[in-house]
Amino acid sequence: MLNYEEVVKVFMDSGALMEGHFLLTSGRHSDQYMQCARVLQYPHYTEKLARQLADKFRDDNIEVVIGPALGGIVVAYEVARQLNVPAIFTERLDGEMVLRRGFLLDAGQRALVVEDVVTTGGSVKEVMNVVEKFGAKVVGVGTLVDRSNGQVDFGVKQEAVLSMDISSWESSNCPLCAKGKLPLVKPGSRSK
Ligand code: ZN
Repeated sequence: MLNYEEVVKVFMDSGALMEGHFLLTSGRHSDQYMQCARVLQYPHYTEKLARQLADKFRDDNIEVVIGPALGGIVVAYEVARQLNVPAIFTERLDGEMVLRRGFLLDAGQRALVVEDVVTTGGSVKEVMNVVEKFGAKVVGVGTLVDRSNGQVDFGVKQEAVLSMDISSWESSNCPLCAKGKLPLVKPGSRSK
């Protein structure tokens, strides 16, 4: 298992976790920004992070891994590969989370729900509802990044590779603006 510093290093080295001076979509400023998809572009990093989850659920007799599109697809696939079980994904149809493409769950099937980032837990709860509609059982929830600050309880065994609380400030209270040294960057707008 990776320790906390090693996990943070994976997110930093892959460019998923950035440090600087960021303008968030909320208009607030932050000294960190997480774009989880960036770590998932590298199979060797994805393999390491997924192993953290696979190992935590290895003794739970997981029979299928399921995640919400898009963020959960790669996570579900790699965790499932390591547990040697199938991976499927849910997606939205007219706003409702559903299984399509011929994906099915069996009654009583033991499912692990995974997601890349959890903030409010809304998508994960919708996936849990889909699993339960089929009469399958949600054995656990695994996420790469938990941004909920420990506020989301799914009522089952839940594990996160990285729990983090990114601090942010109104521009008028931003300590980085006050120092005036780092230019403000809007994430995703860099041409690097
Ligand atoms: Zn600022």
